[in-house]
Amino acid sequence: MAITIEIDHAKTRAKAAAAAGQPVVPQAVKGPIRRIKWGILLLTLSIYYVTPFIRWDRGPNAPDQAVLLDFANGRLYAFFVEIWPQDLYLVTGLLVLASTILILANALAGRLWCGFACPQTVWTDLFLLVERLIEGDRRQRLKNIGAPLGPKRAARMVAKHAAWLLISLATGGTLIFYFTDAPGLVRALATGDVSASALTWIVVFAGTTYGLAGFAREQVCTFMCPWPRLQGAIWDPEAYTVNYRDYRGEQRTSAKKAAELRLQGKPAGDCVDCGQCVAVCPIGIDIREGPNFACINCGLCVDACDGVMLKLGRQRGLIDYESWKNIERGRRKEAPVNRPVRPKTVGLAAACFALAGAIVVAFAARTNATLSVQHDRDPVAVRLSDGSVRNAYTVKLLNKSSRAHLYTLSVSGLDARMAIIGNESLAPIEVAPEGSEAVRVTLTTTASRNADVTFTAHDESCTTVLSATDRFVER
Ligand code: SF4
Ligand code: SF4
Repeated sequence: MAITIEIDHAKTRAKAAAAAGQPVVPQAVKGPIRRIKWGILLLTLSIYYVTPFIRWDRGPNAPDQAVLLDFANGRLYAFFVEIWPQDLYLVTGLLVLASTILILANALAGRLWCGFACPQTVWTDLFLLVERLIEGDRRQRLKNIGAPLGPKRAARMVAKHAAWLLISLATGGTLIFYFTDAPGLVRALATGDVSASALTWIVVFAGTTYGLAGFAREQVCTFMCPWPRLQGAIWDPEAYTVNYRDYRGEQRTSAKKAAELRLQGKPAGDCVDCGQCVAVCPIGIDIREGPNFACINCGLCVDACDGVMLKLGRQRGLIDYESWKNIERGRRKEAPVNRPVRPKTVGLAAACFALAGAIVVAFAARTNATLSVQHDRDPVAVRLSDGSVRNAYTVKLLNKSSRAHLYTLSVSGLDARMAIIGNESLAPIEVAPEGSEAVRVTLTTTASRNADVTFTAHDESCTTVLSATDRFVER
């Protein structure tokens, strides 16, 4: 059976609200899902604000910040991991892995990431909490819209925006801490001895937080984020997305009327049309209208409706994390079928494990030094007056460790005489800590032929043996 998912009603709702100059004003809600969301908010914000201040001893000449993006020196530090520009394939691998995990989560439970852990959701929740504490819940805030601005309300607005700005500045400042020594920057900020570029970035990131979490809010999740657009390709009718059990809820009737109808033996739906599910939705969706790509699967409407059902003494789950397939089965009065383990999720999980395994293997195979060889292009070969042929190469040694090393260079694969320009005695090449050294090398042979040549370098203790293969060409 073909399934059509609408994004239009969320669009028109958001557009209608914007046209009327009215933002989406979500109401506070209590319930188990809300509590989980508070827990995740606390955890993610704590990780974000505390991480730059965690220290990690990497020995002398290395920064002791556990997580640091050191752009100036081209390093990325994350606890025991140190990524050099040469290792960026690992970061690419991690990004691909994260995307695959996100698609797997989507196949299991829709936009779960969006509803619980996305920074946009977390900071918007925080800003909404501040707004509610200062200006009141939805009813009061709706009353405020268009009302004359008295001194009391003006003071509340000032307090709210001041609190938002403080959070934004803390957020923007913390982001900068990830790019430099955090305690040092805190001291610099305290004494006013801070660079203009650091200040500029703090203001840019603070302004972004203030704008996105304070004003753009659900517009980001609906219109700016690419994830809802992708739902058309990756939406899965068997995923546990938030859905309304319309076969149970319809026809909507007030509790009193439903009781009368049931007494008469007539059918009555469980939905009392109280609108609580719509009032608490941070996106402004009425989930009773059907699945919606703009829905971030936050489950707040589940908590709201469960609260109503509890008060009415009815079974919870009129709105629930339920697959669209089971909603359709419910309409046909068929028993639900749950298939979290199915070819798609198994395939995606296998892809995640394979990617994670490949990243671990690649990481473990990394060495503290690298050797690369580049053959001269013009000329590729020179025939000397005695008939021998000479090829020239640039050999580059990179030492990622924190102490200097001496590398001895040799070549195999061809009976040729090796010379290092400027180092006739072929003395070991010293490479500074976290440094690199490039040398010009020539190979000369009378055994005139094309062949693979392998350059090998070993350090003073022979614990590190590096090699790279290139081609010797006759002409
Ligand atoms: S909260 Fe439940 S009962 Fe109230 S309108 Fe929504 S679905 Fe109906
Ligand atoms: S419809 Fe429900 S689950 Fe979806 S965004 Fe709104 S409150 Fe969250």
